[in-house]
Amino acid sequence: MFATLSDKLDLVFKKLRGQGVMTEENVKDALREVRLALLEADVNFKVVKEFVEKVRGRAVGTEVLQSLAPGQQVIKIVHDELVLLMGGGEDNSLDLAAKPPVAIMLVGLQGAGKTTSCGKLAKFLKAQRKKPLLVPADVYRPAAIEQLKVLGRQLDIEVFGSEATQKPLDICRAANHYATLNGFDVVIFDTAGRHQIDDYLMEELEGIRDELAPREILFVADAMTGQEAVNVATGFNDRLGITGVILTKLDGDAKGGAALSIKAVTGKPVKFVGLGEKLDALDVFHADRLVSRILGMGDVLTLIEKAQATMDEKEAVRLQDKMKKSGQFDLEDFRNQLQQIKKMGSLESIMNMIPGMGKAMKQMQGAQPSEKELKRIEAIIDSMTAKERANHTIINGSRRLRIAKGSGTSVQEVNQLLKRFSEAQKVVKQLQKMGPKGLLKGMKG
Ligand code: GDP
Repeated sequence: MFATLSDKLDLVFKKLRGQGVMTEENVKDALREVRLALLEADVNFKVVKEFVEKVRGRAVGTEVLQSLAPGQQVIKIVHDELVLLMGGGEDNSLDLAAKPPVAIMLVGLQGAGKTTSCGKLAKFLKAQRKKPLLVPADVYRPAAIEQLKVLGRQLDIEVFGSEATQKPLDICRAANHYATLNGFDVVIFDTAGRHQIDDYLMEELEGIRDELAPREILFVADAMTGQEAVNVATGFNDRLGITGVILTKLDGDAKGGAALSIKAVTGKPVKFVGLGEKLDALDVFHADRLVSRILGMGDVLTLIEKAQATMDEKEAVRLQDKMKKSGQFDLEDFRNQLQQIKKMGSLESIMNMIPGMGKAMKQMQGAQPSEKELKRIEAIIDSMTAKERANHTIINGSRRLRIAKGSGTSVQEVNQLLKRFSEAQKVVKQLQKMGPKGLLKGMKG
């Protein structure tokens, strides 16, 4: 995510960190580079100008320049101002405070990820114990209605029975009525898109808006399109009065311009970000966390939340009890842990959330375990007997051969896994001795 911008800012920060004494001139130099980095990331020109002015205003005060670590202070100011720029500290939660069914309209250009985001949002709301109804109202894109129906089936969420021959406004009216009669809490409307803004589409959307009086009109923006996404958002906002933005495809190699300027230009907050094609790849947007990620400071909070949402609590308690009783961590536990980690998403995305890890992994190129390798490890452990998993020291030569054959791997690969596991086991034992306090100290150091 935003790799070039991250690398550029990292360089500026490296220089700043080294500065024991700073002058206004140093700040100016650093900010010139920050400015260039932001412009190259396709951040709106005006937004960059105002941003740099703000940082300069705060950074050149004598208090900062004469502090013990002026470089660090300037970095902190850049961090804080970036958070503010993206709407940090303001309320960006979904507004569902109305008599149900509450209407949410998703709007945007074709291909931005509207239909996919409808599915993701429905899943998100279902997890919050809401009863959502999905309504396909895009009668122009041939496959849109069917696409939403497929998503609904996957999620086990009802999709209103629209037909491409109906008028969008009629569909929306009928769906709203149906939702009221059938006790739905939220109705998500997937509206039509176009390749570019056109009057006819806007009129149709205005008609739907006036009919439904939605609590939320969310503009779906493709982060990969940079400034263009911001311009289109402005167009939709002028006509419809959007209430927020869903920024999709942040998992791709977007430069960052849309994410950094859309709030500042439209005045409307980013509420969600799309991080993949899968239906669970939708995160609530937190400006501070995104900035920490851009600046390579990790995003531990999202990681913890993801862990809490996906980790099997029973498994965690079981492992804790077992470790307390026997102090043993065996191959069975190792495999369970791997499975839990896999549930949290791609390894790369997890690594990027750990402070410093994203960069370290990049430097180690090729040293990180791939998804494929994880599968191989699982296959090897699956081919062991329960006894072998409980005590790997009994795995002799002939057992290794049998396991390799059973898992479609080689004896060498089995050897390698066992070696790695013994090392992991040692670390786990060490950590246990240190206890949680020692662990924290270890991480800081
Ligand atoms: P619509 O025309 O706006 O309804 O767009 P779709 O929902 O059909 O999405 C267009 C394409 O973008 C599809 O291939 C989606 O799988 C993909 N897509 C949507 N959201 C994301 C995202 O957050 N990340 C990635 N990588 N792809 C996405």
